[in-house]
This record gives sequence, C-alpha cells and structure tokens, in this order.
Amino acid sequence: MVAPHDETHLDTHVVVVGSGAAGLCAAIEAAESGARVMLIEKHKIGGNSAKATSGINGAGTSVQRALGIEDRPEAFMQDTLVSGEGMADEQLVARLAHSSASAVEWLISLGVNLTQVERLGGHSTARSHRIPPLPDGRPVPVGWTTISALVRKIKDFGDRITVMEGYRLLDIIISNDAQPSLSPSPHLPGHAAEGVVIQATNTTADDSPAAPPLTIHSDSVVLATGGFSSDALPQQQGQGDHLPGHLAPSLLKEVAPLLAHHATTNGLFATGDSLKIGQHRGLAMKHLEHIQLHPTGFVDLCDPLSSTKWLAPEMLRGCGAILVTHTGERFVNELEKRSVVSDAILQGGTPILAWPGMEGARLRPDSGEDEGAAARRASNSAALLMNEAIRQRVGAGTLRFYEQKGLIRSAGSLREAAAMLGVREDRLIATIKDYSNGMAQGKDSFGKSVFPAALSPDDTFYIAIVTPCLHYTMGGLCVNSSAQVMREEPSAVVDPLLDLGVPTQPPRRPVSGLFAAGEVVGGLHGANRLAGNGLLESVVFGRLAGNWAARSSKRSSSTLPLPIHPGGESAELRLREIDDRTIPGCAVLRFDLPSGRHVANVGLGGRVLLKPPHCRNGVSLPVLTPPSSFTGVLELALFATVDGDTDVEQSPRPPPLGCVCAPGSVVSASLEPPQEGAGDMQRLDRMVRKDDGVKCVVAAGNDGLALALQLMRYALHHHDTLRGMLQVIVISANCRCCQYLQKTAQQHRSVLEGRFQLQAKCSDEDGCHGDVPGAAVGDGLWECDGLLESVQLAKLMAQQRLFLCGVGVKDAADATADEGARIRGC
Ligand SMILES: Cc1cc2nc3c(=O)[nH]c(=O)nc-3n(C[C@H](O)[C@H](O)[C@H](O)COP(=O)(O)OP(=O)(O)OC[C@H]3O[C@@H](n4cnc5c(N)ncnc54)[C@H](O)[C@@H]3O)c2cc1C
Repeated sequence: MVAPHDETHLDTHVVVVGSGAAGLCAAIEAAESGARVMLIEKHKIGGNSAKATSGINGAGTSVQRALGIEDRPEAFMQDTLVSGEGMADEQLVARLAHSSASAVEWLISLGVNLTQVERLGGHSTARSHRIPPLPDGRPVPVGWTTISALVRKIKDFGDRITVMEGYRLLDIIISNDAQPSLSPSPHLPGHAAEGVVIQATNTTADDSPAAPPLTIHSDSVVLATGGFSSDALPQQQGQGDHLPGHLAPSLLKEVAPLLAHHATTNGLFATGDSLKIGQHRGLAMKHLEHIQLHPTGFVDLCDPLSSTKWLAPEMLRGCGAILVTHTGERFVNELEKRSVVSDAILQGGTPILAWPGMEGARLRPDSGEDEGAAARRASNSAALLMNEAIRQRVGAGTLRFYEQKGLIRSAGSLREAAAMLGVREDRLIATIKDYSNGMAQGKDSFGKSVFPAALSPDDTFYIAIVTPCLHYTMGGLCVNSSAQVMREEPSAVVDPLLDLGVPTQPPRRPVSGLFAAGEVVGGLHGANRLAGNGLLESVVFGRLAGNWAARSSKRSSSTLPLPIHPGGESAELRLREIDDRTIPGCAVLRFDLPSGRHVANVGLGGRVLLKPPHCRNGVSLPVLTPPSSFTGVLELALFATVDGDTDVEQSPRPPPLGCVCAPGSVVSASLEPPQEGAGDMQRLDRMVRKDDGVKCVVAAGNDGLALALQLMRYALHHHDTLRGMLQVIVISANCRCCQYLQKTAQQHRSVLEGRFQLQAKCSDEDGCHGDVPGAAVGDGLWECDGLLESVQLAKLMAQQRLFLCGVGVKDAADATADEGARIRGC
C-alpha cells in the first residue's frame, strides 16, 4: 500500500494524515463523496485504534434492542458529560451520542460483528459493543477487526485513495485570505489549509541522510494523528530517525510534568505531531493538560518498570474482576470511571516492587532513557482478581492470551492466590465474603451497585498486577461540530457556523479546509474519557471530517441526485441521528444519503414522506436542508418529542418521535406529491435562486419554521452569489423559535449583511416580543391570536405581493380568497 514518489510536489483533493480509525473513516467518506484522497501514515496502518479490546459505544442500536437493553442517546450523553466533570463540550458530546448508533450499524454493515454488549465503568447501561469470541474461545479484538474492515473498504476505492505508509507529517500549509467554494462555514476571508509537507521515515540507518521533504497540495486536510501519550518516551524509538526540531520537544512533559513519568499503553508513534505543528501555526487547542491514566496496565513480573505496558482491558472489570491491595482488601468501586479508579490505586495501592515475585526482575531504564526513568515508574499498583465465571464471560481465549504472555497467572484455589500475592488467606476470604454480601444487598460500601459476577472463596482464581498507565490524551485541537479546526484569532467578530445553533467562540475562527478527528481533537471528553468513546469518536468524527473535507474540495464535488420522486420511487435512508438540541421544540432528523456525493434536491417548502416499518401511514416531515446545497445528508424537522405512539395517522398533529425510527435504522423515504401551493413554492425557489430580491413571509412555528431555516441556510450557503435582499419575515407563536431564529441571524450577521434580512415576531404572550417593524405589518396586528394574525397578515402581504407560507396558511388563504390574494399553504 506504500506509494513511492519521486516527485517533490504532489496534488490531490483531500489529504488525510494518520491511519487509525479516524483517518481511515475520513478517507473512506471523502472518497465516497467523490474526492481523490492521499492517506499519510508515518508508522503502520492502524494506530492505537488497532489495539482496542473493550469495545465501541452505541446508544439505541439494533443489537441492544435485540438483547432487550433499553438505551437512549440522551442517557449516553449524560454519562459522557458526567465523566467529563463538567468540562466536556456539549455540542460535540451530543453529536457523538446521537450518531453513536449509526456508527455501530455502519461498522456492522462493513462486516464487524459487534453483537456482544457489555456495561463498562462509568456507563449507566450496557452499551459497549464488541465481537464475541470464536466458537473455540479465541478472542476477536474489536480494534484490529475494525481496522481490517476499514482497510478492506479502502481497497474498494482503488486508486481513488493512495496510501502512503512510512511518511511523516512535517507541516500544514495554511494560507491567508483564501475563498474555497463550499465549506461547513460560509466563508469569510481568513485562513485556509492548502496542503501538507511530509517526509519519508523509512530511512533505516541513523546516519543516513534525511529524506527530502515532499509537498502535497490539496483542497482540504484532515488531521487524524491520534494523541500524545508516548511523547515522553525517548524520541528515536519507533519514530524512524532525523526527527525535525519542531517535533522533538515533549509536549507531554510540558503540559503534564507530574504525569509524564508513567508508563503508557500507547504505541510509540503517539507523539502529538499535529499538535506541535498546530502550536506553530496558531491553531486553537483545548484541555492539553488533561491526560487519562488507565487504571489497569499489566505489570510484567519480569520487566515491571517497562515504559510501555499491555492494557488489562476495561472489560475485565466490566465482567466482574475486583481490585485488592497487598493486604487483600478492596478499596474502590471497580466500575467507577477511570480517573477515580486510577487515583484510588495511586493513593491507596501497593508499590509495584512490593509484590512477591519481583526478585530478579529487570529494573533498568529502557534504551535511550536516563538512569532515573525506570525508578520514577515504580508507582503504586493493585492485584486484579478474577474467577472462572469471569474468565468465561470475558472469553477464555482472551485470558489465555494474557496468560501466555505471563501477565495473568492462574491459582487453583484461594489459598494459592493468596500465596502468589503475599496476602493473608483469611483477609482475602473476608474480602470475598464482604463482596458477596454487598452483591446480595445490591450495594457495597464503595458504592458499587452492579455486580457482574459472583465470587466465592471456593473458586479457582486468575490474578494479575496492574498499575495506572498513560492511556489517552483528552486535549487537542479545537474543532466545531463539523470537525473543522479552529484558529486563535482575537480579531474575529463572529464564527459563522452553518451548523445552526452552535454557540460560537468569538476569538476563534475555523480554518477553511482544515478538519480533525479522533484523539487529536480536544474538548469532547472534558476531564475524563469514558470507556468505549475513543473508537466511537474516531468513527463518528472521522466520517464527518472526511465528508466535509470532500465537500470543501473545489474539484471533487460533482453531485448525484437522490433517486426519489414525488409520489413515486422511494429510497432507503439510514437515520444517522436525532438531534433535539438545536431548534427549540423541534428535533432534527439527519439521514445519510446513499453516498456523500448525493444530494436530496428537494425544493423550498418540500416535504418527505417517511415510512418506518411499524408506522402504517408514514410520517410527512418538512425538509430543513436547502435545495442543492447539502450533499450526503438530508435533514427533516420533527416538531414533537413525545414518545411511545407506534401508529400515527397522517394528521396535522406532529408525529411522536418514537414513531419515526431509532438512529441506525433504515427508513423508506419518498417525496410528498405536490400540494396546493407547491407551484408557488417552486416559483419562490426559482426567484430565490435568481436572486430577485425576493421578500418572503413565513408564518413560523411548525412547518413555517422549517422553511425559515431552509431559507436562512440557503442564504448562508449562497451568500457570495446572492446580490439582492432575501427578506424573510417570521411570525411565530412560539417565542423560543423566534428567539432562536433571531439569535442565529445575529450570529451570522456579517455573512448575511446586505443580502438577507430576517425579522422575527412572536405572538407568545410571555414572549420576547420580537421586532417586526410596524410599517410592514400594521399596528395592532400582534394583539391577535395565531390564526387571526395569519389572516390579517395574509391580507397585508397580498397587497404587498409577498409570499406567505406556513402552518395555518390554508385558512388564511381561504379567508383572503375574495381579495384575490396570491397566497398558498405549503
Ligand atoms: C491499548 C489501547 C486499548 C484501547 N481500547 C479501546 C477500546 O476498547 N475502546 C475505545 O473506544 N477506545 C480504546 N482505546 C482508545 C482508542 O484506541 C483511541 O482513542 C483511538 O484509537 C484513537 O484513534 P485515532 O484514529 O484518533 O488515532 P490512532 O488510532 O492512534 O491513529 C493515529 C495514527 O496517526 C499516525 N501518525 C501520528 N503522527 C503522524 C505524523 N506526523 N505523520 C503521519 N502519521 C502520523 C500514527 O502512526 C497512527 O497510526 C484504546 C487505546 C489503547 C492504547
């Protein structure tokens, strides 16, 4: 898969750097969206992603449903936020949780058999998906299997994806004042990524000359270079040679000097290169000082102070393993989040070298380290205790793997286990009895309330010594919820995110064409990452970044129309997420189109009829994505979040959310046949496209709100071609909608200025009394109730030859028919 090149300048649509799960997913999505991709990897394909063993989270998956596990993205979100100790970025967490089911389903569709689900530490339910062991008990590691499936998929794209293994990112080319054609943020003059500089790492001898740098020009760049947990190790290890100066200093030692001495579970490649480059290029960073110690790195009795350690997977504790000290006592709820368990071991555990069996162990520093390095790693540890039931639950083959490596030892009896640990037998018996009592009562003195397996003093045991290790770096590049990298820019006034509703950080602005995903990103996990969220973020945000990167490419975006027709052909669409945080009183359903190049070219005011399998009549929902602008995704608005109903008649009442479908499920979708007024909508569409200085009145709330949003997004996307004024007057009976729209317009003020005008007014009694100029609508109008408003407004608009659309308009049209008004409902 290595592509050797003689040239010093190459050219492609999208460069993806790093080939862990995030990079591979980004490359696949970008290629699927029509882009030519170069995937750069300094080491070997797979990164730390290939090492994952515990699982990938998904809330509301078909697998959970089949196993009778009730779960919802909201609960998952809550667990992730709690784990992040109030520091996690809520927008990113919401995207992660709401896209989790479809990420898992997507991997399943690629052949990853994620049909076993466990509850891991910090989760309120079982949602970590992994692969059951083979019939002969051999384990099937989730990370490696996922990477293999992604690599198979990459190969399907042939020469559309060029994989360059053995090349290291040296720099990102960022220019000023660029104007790419399409981007998740409507574009203001600013910074733009234009390619990367890389260098071959495969020169073998230390004294051979460094390979010449190679420049790749590209329309967009995705950074997926993972974290920096190995960044305090001797730089030359696994790095190849000739490390350039700006990549050499240890970021880890700089941001977390008190933790840098710990051993790591990571590969030696995890050195934070993109972050070091980002520091030079003014990219915004977040939470760099938050480093996750995994509580259970295996201590190898022959080499207890080694700088890298095998991970004792989370699922060991998830399946019921307990932790004890050298006195045989428990000291923590083993299913607590990682930071809590790690702290408990470091504070109340047993010094590594105090366990029996360390005599004659290798205690020297690793090659390239100074003399004191190994001694500094001699921190506290604990014994992990499992019985046969836990072993079977984890998978006998999995434990055998670690037994063969000498990391887990078996003890035929409790007495033998006690002897191996140098613990008094009676103490260990007391501990196990206490544990059983706690289990019988449903809660123990450490707050443990879930007891995955019973223990008895009569069991046979499996034991390991474990110690906290550097495992995951929560900090990294700042991105918005479209995976676009932000730059520190104190002079920036607004951050014009198209991703409506995303609160913006005034001093930061997105770098056009620069995206990041996976562990290289900061902020998603706050102070502590929840188990199973590492792979998940790589898949969710890797796909998102790849999709946007392709869309940002000026050259790769030839679109395909979605093959659905009014009243005719339907398409099967997968629900990616239900997002109920952006628009007040409204959930947004995001469906994946068949590929990232597909566009659902539904006109303004259009509706889509969804037919979930259990819904007799289907549900008709208004479209939120503006015509022709959004590739790869179709957004529909749902104006209710009531659950439970399974059979909804088509009616003006909003359909209950539960009726529509769960994330990950596939729904048949067709365009609604043209309705009364559709001709006018099409005409409005044409006028907006022609930019005739259209004025449009949207009686918002319900469908009108969808249309208002469609129009606003249309204007945001086409702001550079809209010459005249697209004026939207929104009348809403819902104050929150009104405020939302006003806030959004305000946020995007500098983009829309002079081209789009939003005036919003709500008739909500306690509402914001948003401002629609009296001159436009006449005094006294707003004292009326919703329908009357519509009627009066309709009359007025008819006089002014404006378009009117929205719920209740049909009544308005009837009421004003005598006056010959050109008013139609949509
Ligand atoms: C032992 C272990 C077990 C884990 N188990 C789980 C689990 O069960 N579930 C879970 O959710 N998470 C788990 N994680 C965490 C999870 O694996 C990571 O969060 C995730 O893999 C990060 O993916 P990534 O694609 O961002 O980075 P990685 O998979 O680490 O890939 C980054 C890639 O970028 C390359 N790279 C770095 N710098 C450069 C450069 N300058 N130029 C070119 N290439 C570069 C690296 O060589 C690497 O291949 C585990 C982590 C470890 C270490």
